[in-house]
Amino acid sequence: MRYEILNSKDRQFSNKSQYFPCIIAFILLIFLNMQTEKENLIGMNIKEMDKFMQKIGEHGYRANQLFNWIYKKRITSFNQMTNFSKSLRSLLNNIAEIGLIKLVKINSTPNNHTKKFLFQLKDGFCLESVFMIEGKRRTACLSTQVGCALNCDFCATGKMGFKRNLSTGEIVDQLLFIQRHLDSDISNVVLMGMGEPFLNYDNVIAACEIFSHDKGIAIGKRKITISTAGIIHAIKRFADEGHKYKLAISLNAASDELRNQLMPINKKHPVREVINAAKYYSKQSRYGLTFEYVLIAGVNDSLKEVFKLQKLLLDYPCKINIIPYNETCKKYQRPTEHKINEFIQPFLKLNVVISVRRSKGENINAACGQLYYLSEQSLNASPCMPNS
Ligand code: SF4
Repeated sequence: MRYEILNSKDRQFSNKSQYFPCIIAFILLIFLNMQTEKENLIGMNIKEMDKFMQKIGEHGYRANQLFNWIYKKRITSFNQMTNFSKSLRSLLNNIAEIGLIKLVKINSTPNNHTKKFLFQLKDGFCLESVFMIEGKRRTACLSTQVGCALNCDFCATGKMGFKRNLSTGEIVDQLLFIQRHLDSDISNVVLMGMGEPFLNYDNVIAACEIFSHDKGIAIGKRKITISTAGIIHAIKRFADEGHKYKLAISLNAASDELRNQLMPINKKHPVREVINAAKYYSKQSRYGLTFEYVLIAGVNDSLKEVFKLQKLLLDYPCKINIIPYNETCKKYQRPTEHKINEFIQPFLKLNVVISVRRSKGENINAACGQLYYLSEQSLNASPCMPNS
Protein backbone atom coordinates (compact mmCIF):
# COMPACT_ATOMS: atom_id res chain seq x y z
CA MET A 1 0.00 0.00 0.00
CA ARG A 2 1.41 3.43 -0.96
CA TYR A 3 0.75 6.56 0.98
CA GLU A 4 1.27 10.03 -0.42
CA ILE A 5 1.67 13.21 1.51
CA LEU A 6 -0.33 15.92 -0.23
CA ASN A 7 0.15 19.62 0.17
CA SER A 8 -2.96 21.66 1.11
CA LYS A 9 -3.68 22.70 -2.53
CA ASP A 10 -3.54 19.04 -3.69
CA ARG A 11 -5.75 18.07 -0.80
CA GLN A 12 -8.35 20.64 -1.86
CA PHE A 13 -8.29 19.32 -5.40
CA SER A 14 -8.47 15.75 -4.21
CA ASN A 15 -11.46 16.57 -1.98
CA LYS A 16 -13.26 18.18 -4.91
CA SER A 17 -12.40 15.41 -7.37
CA GLN A 18 -13.92 12.76 -5.16
CA TYR A 19 -17.26 14.57 -5.59
CA PHE A 20 -17.13 14.59 -9.41
CA PRO A 21 -18.93 11.26 -9.92
CA CYS A 22 -21.66 12.40 -7.51
CA ILE A 23 -22.09 15.72 -9.32
CA ILE A 24 -22.31 13.98 -12.71
CA ALA A 25 -24.83 11.47 -11.32
CA PHE A 26 -26.83 14.35 -9.84
CA ILE A 27 -26.93 16.24 -13.17
CA LEU A 28 -27.93 13.02 -14.95
CA LEU A 29 -30.68 12.47 -12.42
CA ILE A 30 -32.04 15.99 -12.97
CA PHE A 31 -31.87 15.42 -16.71
CA LEU A 32 -33.68 12.09 -16.46
CA ASN A 33 -36.19 13.62 -14.13
CA MET A 34 -36.81 16.39 -16.65
CA GLN A 35 -37.38 13.70 -19.23
CA THR A 36 -39.77 11.62 -17.14
CA GLU A 37 -41.72 14.10 -15.01
CA LYS A 38 -44.47 15.40 -17.20
CA GLU A 39 -46.04 18.78 -16.66
CA ASN A 40 -49.72 18.49 -15.81
CA LEU A 41 -51.80 21.02 -17.68
CA ILE A 42 -54.97 20.79 -15.59
CA GLY A 43 -55.26 23.85 -13.39
CA MET A 44 -53.28 26.13 -15.71
CA ASN A 45 -55.06 29.33 -16.65
CA ILE A 46 -54.78 30.79 -20.12
CA LYS A 47 -51.71 32.89 -19.26
CA GLU A 48 -49.93 29.87 -17.84
CA MET A 49 -50.78 27.84 -20.94
CA ASP A 50 -49.43 30.67 -23.07
CA LYS A 51 -46.17 30.59 -21.12
CA PHE A 52 -46.02 26.80 -21.46
CA MET A 53 -46.56 26.94 -25.22
CA GLN A 54 -43.92 29.64 -25.64
CA LYS A 55 -41.48 27.55 -23.59
CA ILE A 56 -41.78 24.76 -26.15
CA GLY A 57 -41.45 27.20 -29.06
CA GLU A 58 -45.11 27.44 -30.06
CA HIS A 59 -47.16 30.52 -30.90
CA GLY A 60 -49.41 32.13 -28.30
CA TYR A 61 -52.62 31.24 -30.16
CA ARG A 62 -51.90 27.58 -29.43
CA ALA A 63 -52.59 28.34 -25.75
CA ASN A 64 -56.18 29.31 -26.61
CA GLN A 65 -56.58 26.09 -28.57
CA LEU A 66 -55.14 24.03 -25.72
CA PHE A 67 -57.38 25.80 -23.19
CA ASN A 68 -60.38 25.06 -25.38
CA TRP A 69 -59.49 21.38 -25.83
CA ILE A 70 -58.96 20.79 -22.13
CA TYR A 71 -61.66 22.89 -20.48
CA LYS A 72 -64.39 23.22 -23.09
CA LYS A 73 -64.10 19.96 -25.02
CA ARG A 74 -62.85 18.05 -21.93
CA ILE A 75 -60.27 16.15 -23.97
CA THR A 76 -57.70 14.16 -22.01
CA SER A 77 -55.54 12.89 -24.88
CA PHE A 78 -53.23 15.07 -26.97
CA ASN A 79 -53.85 12.68 -29.89
CA GLN A 80 -57.41 14.01 -30.12
CA MET A 81 -56.25 17.61 -30.53
CA THR A 82 -56.71 17.55 -34.26
CA ASN A 83 -55.71 21.13 -34.98
CA PHE A 84 -52.23 20.42 -33.58
CA SER A 85 -49.54 19.05 -35.91
CA LYS A 86 -48.45 15.46 -35.45
CA SER A 87 -45.07 16.60 -34.18
CA LEU A 88 -46.65 18.94 -31.59
CA ARG A 89 -48.95 16.17 -30.40
CA SER A 90 -46.02 13.83 -30.07
CA LEU A 91 -43.99 16.44 -28.19
CA LEU A 92 -46.91 17.10 -25.82
CA ASN A 93 -47.30 13.37 -25.22
CA ASN A 94 -43.66 13.25 -24.15
CA ILE A 95 -43.55 16.25 -21.87
CA ALA A 96 -47.07 16.86 -20.58
CA GLU A 97 -50.19 15.15 -19.32
CA ILE A 98 -53.82 15.97 -18.58
CA GLY A 99 -55.47 14.71 -15.41
CA LEU A 100 -54.68 14.57 -11.72
CA ILE A 101 -57.35 12.32 -10.24
CA LYS A 102 -58.35 8.69 -10.67
CA LEU A 103 -61.82 7.30 -9.98
CA VAL A 104 -62.05 4.86 -7.06
CA LYS A 105 -65.81 4.44 -6.90
CA ILE A 106 -69.19 6.01 -7.53
CA ASN A 107 -72.28 5.64 -5.34
CA SER A 108 -75.57 6.65 -6.97
CA THR A 109 -79.15 6.98 -5.82
CA PRO A 110 -81.54 4.64 -7.71
CA ASN A 111 -82.84 7.54 -9.85
CA ASN A 112 -79.27 8.70 -10.56
CA HIS A 113 -80.15 12.19 -9.35
CA THR A 114 -77.30 12.14 -6.86
CA LYS A 115 -73.91 10.61 -7.45
CA LYS A 116 -71.01 10.60 -5.11
CA PHE A 117 -67.51 10.19 -6.54
CA LEU A 118 -64.50 8.98 -4.60
CA PHE A 119 -61.24 9.96 -6.32
CA GLN A 120 -57.64 9.13 -5.64
CA LEU A 121 -54.87 11.69 -6.06
CA LYS A 122 -51.38 11.03 -7.37
CA ASP A 123 -49.89 10.85 -3.86
CA GLY A 124 -52.48 8.27 -2.78
CA PHE A 125 -54.81 10.53 -0.80
CA CYS A 126 -58.50 10.47 -1.66
CA LEU A 127 -61.16 13.12 -2.00
CA GLU A 128 -64.80 13.14 -2.83
CA SER A 129 -67.22 15.15 -4.94
CA VAL A 130 -71.00 15.02 -5.29
CA PHE A 131 -73.24 15.61 -8.28
CA MET A 132 -76.92 16.51 -7.79
CA ILE A 133 -79.85 17.19 -10.10
CA GLU A 134 -82.55 19.52 -8.79
CA GLY A 135 -85.00 20.63 -11.47
CA LYS A 136 -82.90 22.21 -14.19
CA ARG A 137 -79.90 22.62 -11.93
CA ARG A 138 -76.99 20.26 -12.30
CA THR A 139 -74.73 20.98 -9.38
CA ALA A 140 -71.26 19.71 -8.56
CA CYS A 141 -70.14 19.93 -4.95
CA LEU A 142 -66.34 19.89 -4.91
CA SER A 143 -63.65 19.41 -2.28
CA THR A 144 -60.91 21.94 -1.63
CA GLN A 145 -58.71 20.08 0.86
CA VAL A 146 -57.96 16.51 1.82
CA GLY A 147 -59.50 16.32 5.28
CA CYS A 148 -60.13 19.46 7.29
CA ALA A 149 -58.49 21.10 10.27
CA LEU A 150 -61.68 22.68 11.61
CA ASN A 151 -63.06 19.51 13.19
CA CYS A 152 -66.74 20.46 13.27
CA ASP A 153 -68.36 18.04 15.67
CA PHE A 154 -71.07 16.86 13.24
CA CYS A 155 -68.80 16.37 10.23
CA ALA A 156 -67.17 13.16 8.97
CA THR A 157 -64.37 15.08 7.21
CA GLY A 158 -63.53 16.83 10.47
CA LYS A 159 -62.86 13.41 12.04
CA MET A 160 -60.13 12.73 9.45
CA GLY A 161 -58.03 15.73 10.46
CA PHE A 162 -56.23 17.87 7.92
CA LYS A 163 -54.03 16.12 5.34
CA ARG A 164 -53.24 18.77 2.73
CA ASN A 165 -54.59 21.51 0.47
CA LEU A 166 -55.73 20.55 -3.02
CA SER A 167 -53.96 22.24 -5.91
CA THR A 168 -55.95 24.36 -8.36
CA GLY A 169 -55.72 21.49 -10.85
CA GLU A 170 -57.02 18.93 -8.37
CA ILE A 171 -60.06 21.14 -7.68
CA VAL A 172 -60.72 21.76 -11.38
CA ASP A 173 -60.21 18.12 -12.34
CA GLN A 174 -63.12 17.03 -10.11
CA LEU A 175 -65.49 19.09 -12.22
CA LEU A 176 -63.98 18.00 -15.53
CA PHE A 177 -64.22 14.37 -14.53
CA ILE A 178 -67.88 14.69 -13.50
CA GLN A 179 -68.75 16.48 -16.76
CA ARG A 180 -67.01 13.79 -18.81
CA HIS A 181 -68.65 11.01 -16.82
CA LEU A 182 -72.12 12.50 -17.32
CA ASP A 183 -71.29 13.71 -20.82
CA SER A 184 -73.05 16.92 -19.91
CA ASP A 185 -72.46 20.44 -18.64
CA ILE A 186 -72.67 21.38 -14.99
CA SER A 187 -74.75 24.49 -14.29
CA ASN A 188 -73.70 25.21 -10.69
CA VAL A 189 -70.63 24.64 -8.58
CA VAL A 190 -70.51 24.67 -4.79
CA LEU A 191 -67.21 24.52 -2.98
CA MET A 192 -68.63 22.76 0.01
CA GLY A 193 -67.10 19.29 -0.11
CA MET A 194 -64.17 18.24 2.02
CA GLY A 195 -62.18 21.08 3.56
CA GLU A 196 -62.49 24.76 4.35
CA PRO A 197 -62.16 26.65 1.02
CA PHE A 198 -60.91 29.87 2.63
CA LEU A 199 -57.98 28.03 4.20
CA ASN A 200 -56.88 27.20 0.64
CA TYR A 201 -57.82 30.64 -0.64
CA ASP A 202 -55.48 31.17 -3.61
CA ASN A 203 -56.05 27.75 -5.18
CA VAL A 204 -59.82 28.02 -4.71
CA ILE A 205 -60.03 31.45 -6.34
CA ALA A 206 -57.75 30.29 -9.19
CA ALA A 207 -60.06 27.28 -9.74
CA CYS A 208 -63.14 29.55 -9.76
CA GLU A 209 -61.47 31.69 -12.42
CA ILE A 210 -61.01 28.61 -14.60
CA PHE A 211 -64.62 27.48 -13.98
CA SER A 212 -65.97 30.84 -15.06
CA HIS A 213 -63.65 31.62 -18.00
CA ASP A 214 -65.84 32.13 -21.07
CA LYS A 215 -63.44 30.28 -23.38
CA GLY A 216 -63.52 27.17 -21.21
CA ILE A 217 -66.03 25.71 -18.77
CA ALA A 218 -67.93 29.03 -18.76
CA ILE A 219 -70.04 28.69 -15.63
CA GLY A 220 -71.50 32.07 -14.60
CA LYS A 221 -69.74 33.61 -11.61
CA ARG A 222 -73.01 33.85 -9.69
CA LYS A 223 -73.52 30.12 -10.23
CA ILE A 224 -70.38 29.37 -8.24
CA THR A 225 -70.71 29.35 -4.44
CA ILE A 226 -67.89 29.30 -1.94
CA SER A 227 -69.01 28.03 1.45
CA THR A 228 -66.91 28.95 4.47
CA ALA A 229 -67.13 28.11 8.16
CA GLY A 230 -66.44 31.80 8.78
CA ILE A 231 -62.75 32.64 8.37
CA ILE A 232 -63.05 36.36 9.06
CA HIS A 233 -59.86 37.71 7.43
CA ALA A 234 -60.59 35.67 4.27
CA ILE A 235 -64.21 36.94 4.08
CA LYS A 236 -62.85 40.49 4.24
CA ARG A 237 -60.17 39.74 1.64
CA PHE A 238 -62.81 38.19 -0.63
CA ALA A 239 -64.92 41.35 -0.23
CA ASP A 240 -61.98 43.69 -0.85
CA GLU A 241 -60.91 41.80 -3.98
CA GLY A 242 -64.38 42.29 -5.44
CA HIS A 243 -65.06 38.69 -6.47
CA LYS A 244 -68.46 38.03 -7.94
CA TYR A 245 -68.75 34.39 -6.83
CA LYS A 246 -71.51 33.74 -4.31
CA LEU A 247 -70.61 33.46 -0.66
CA ALA A 248 -72.21 31.19 1.93
CA ILE A 249 -71.35 30.99 5.62
CA SER A 250 -71.94 27.84 7.61
CA LEU A 251 -73.49 29.23 10.81
CA ASN A 252 -75.27 26.33 12.52
CA ALA A 253 -75.83 28.17 15.81
CA ALA A 254 -76.64 31.71 16.86
CA SER A 255 -74.78 31.77 20.16
CA ASP A 256 -71.10 31.32 20.93
CA GLU A 257 -71.95 28.73 23.55
CA LEU A 258 -73.60 26.36 21.08
CA ARG A 259 -71.41 27.24 18.10
CA ASN A 260 -68.25 26.56 20.15
CA GLN A 261 -69.60 23.09 20.77
CA LEU A 262 -70.49 22.39 17.13
CA MET A 263 -67.68 24.29 15.40
CA PRO A 264 -64.46 24.75 17.41
CA ILE A 265 -63.36 27.44 14.91
CA ASN A 266 -65.94 29.68 16.64
CA LYS A 267 -63.53 30.10 19.55
CA LYS A 268 -61.19 31.92 17.15
CA HIS A 269 -63.87 33.51 14.97
CA PRO A 270 -66.87 34.20 17.26
CA VAL A 271 -70.35 34.36 15.82
CA ARG A 272 -70.79 38.13 16.25
CA GLU A 273 -67.54 38.82 14.36
CA VAL A 274 -68.56 36.42 11.62
CA ILE A 275 -71.82 38.35 11.20
CA ASN A 276 -69.89 41.64 11.12
CA ALA A 277 -67.58 40.23 8.43
CA ALA A 278 -70.67 39.13 6.47
CA LYS A 279 -72.11 42.64 6.73
CA TYR A 280 -68.77 44.07 5.58
CA TYR A 281 -68.87 41.73 2.57
CA SER A 282 -72.40 42.86 1.69
CA LYS A 283 -71.44 46.52 2.04
CA GLN A 284 -68.37 46.15 -0.18
CA SER A 285 -69.89 43.86 -2.79
CA ARG A 286 -73.55 44.94 -2.64
CA TYR A 287 -74.40 41.23 -2.69
CA GLY A 288 -76.36 39.38 -0.04
CA LEU A 289 -75.16 36.05 1.18
CA THR A 290 -76.51 32.76 2.43
CA PHE A 291 -76.20 31.39 5.93
CA GLU A 292 -76.24 27.63 6.07
CA TYR A 293 -77.72 26.05 9.15
CA VAL A 294 -77.30 22.31 9.63
CA LEU A 295 -80.36 21.39 11.68
CA ILE A 296 -79.63 18.74 14.30
CA ALA A 297 -82.34 17.09 16.39
CA GLY A 298 -82.39 18.27 19.98
CA VAL A 299 -79.26 20.41 19.51
CA ASN A 300 -80.06 23.54 17.49
CA ASP A 301 -83.65 22.96 16.34
CA SER A 302 -85.63 24.48 19.23
CA LEU A 303 -87.78 27.60 19.07
CA LYS A 304 -85.32 29.18 21.51
CA GLU A 305 -82.64 28.85 18.83
CA VAL A 306 -85.02 30.28 16.21
CA PHE A 307 -85.42 33.45 18.26
CA LYS A 308 -81.67 33.75 18.85
CA LEU A 309 -81.08 33.40 15.12
CA GLN A 310 -83.73 35.99 14.29
CA LYS A 311 -82.17 38.42 16.77
CA LEU A 312 -78.68 37.82 15.37
CA LEU A 313 -79.72 38.41 11.76
CA LEU A 314 -82.12 41.24 12.53
CA ASP A 315 -81.90 44.03 9.93
CA TYR A 316 -79.50 42.03 7.80
CA PRO A 317 -81.05 40.97 4.48
CA CYS A 318 -79.77 37.48 3.81
CA LYS A 319 -80.90 34.01 2.91
CA ILE A 320 -80.99 31.10 5.33
CA ASN A 321 -80.49 27.62 3.99
CA ILE A 322 -81.61 24.92 6.40
CA ILE A 323 -79.82 21.61 5.91
CA PRO A 324 -81.42 18.80 7.94
CA TYR A 325 -78.53 16.77 9.36
CA ASN A 326 -77.42 13.86 7.23
CA GLU A 327 -76.58 11.27 9.88
CA THR A 328 -72.87 10.42 9.81
CA CYS A 329 -72.38 9.51 13.44
CA LYS A 330 -74.52 8.19 16.25
CA LYS A 331 -73.99 11.32 18.33
CA TYR A 332 -76.35 13.47 16.25
CA GLN A 333 -79.69 12.79 14.56
CA ARG A 334 -81.71 14.33 11.80
CA PRO A 335 -84.81 16.20 13.02
CA THR A 336 -88.27 14.99 12.05
CA GLU A 337 -90.16 16.71 9.21
CA HIS A 338 -92.50 18.18 11.83
CA LYS A 339 -89.56 19.72 13.70
CA ILE A 340 -88.05 21.08 10.47
CA ASN A 341 -91.34 22.80 9.58
CA GLU A 342 -91.74 24.12 13.11
CA PHE A 343 -88.25 25.65 12.85
CA ILE A 344 -88.84 27.48 9.59
CA GLN A 345 -92.40 28.75 10.31
CA PRO A 346 -91.40 31.84 12.35
CA PHE A 347 -89.07 32.94 9.52
CA LEU A 348 -91.82 32.67 6.92
CA LYS A 349 -93.94 35.09 8.93
CA LEU A 350 -91.05 37.57 8.88
CA ASN A 351 -90.66 37.29 5.12
CA VAL A 352 -87.09 36.05 5.45
CA VAL A 353 -85.78 34.10 2.47
CA ILE A 354 -85.45 30.63 3.91
CA SER A 355 -85.06 27.33 2.13
CA VAL A 356 -84.68 23.73 3.21
CA ARG A 357 -82.20 21.59 1.38
CA ARG A 358 -83.59 18.14 1.70
CA SER A 359 -80.79 15.66 1.29
CA LYS A 360 -80.85 13.70 -1.92
CA GLY A 361 -77.92 11.58 -0.94
CA GLU A 362 -78.64 10.15 2.45
CA ASN A 363 -78.66 6.57 1.26
CA ILE A 364 -75.37 6.96 -0.59
CA ASN A 365 -73.52 8.51 2.35
CA ALA A 366 -73.40 11.88 0.67
CA ALA A 367 -72.64 13.89 3.77
CA CYS A 368 -69.41 15.83 3.69
CA GLY A 369 -66.48 13.42 4.00
CA GLN A 370 -68.67 10.44 4.58
CA LEU A 371 -67.87 8.25 1.60
CA TYR A 372 -64.16 8.73 2.14
CA TYR A 373 -64.53 7.98 5.82
CA LEU A 374 -66.50 4.80 5.21
CA SER A 375 -64.14 3.66 2.44
CA GLU A 376 -61.21 4.00 4.78
CA GLN A 377 -62.97 1.95 7.40
CA SER A 378 -64.16 -0.77 5.07
CA LEU A 379 -60.98 -1.21 3.03
CA ASN A 380 -58.21 -2.63 5.12
CA ALA A 381 -55.66 -2.13 2.39
CA SER A 382 -57.04 1.32 1.84
CA PRO A 383 -56.29 2.86 -1.54
CA CYS A 384 -56.77 6.23 0.07
CA MET A 385 -53.65 6.64 2.10
CA PRO A 386 -50.64 8.55 0.80
CA ASN A 387 -47.79 6.78 -0.89
CA SER A 388 -44.95 6.41 1.55
S1 SF4 B 1 -68.10 20.98 8.10
FE1 SF4 B 1 -66.68 21.84 6.60
S2 SF4 B 1 -65.37 23.19 7.86
FE2 SF4 B 1 -66.38 21.81 9.30
S3 SF4 B 1 -64.94 20.08 9.55
FE3 SF4 B 1 -66.40 19.55 7.90
S4 SF4 B 1 -65.32 20.14 6.03
FE4 SF4 B 1 -64.34 21.22 7.73
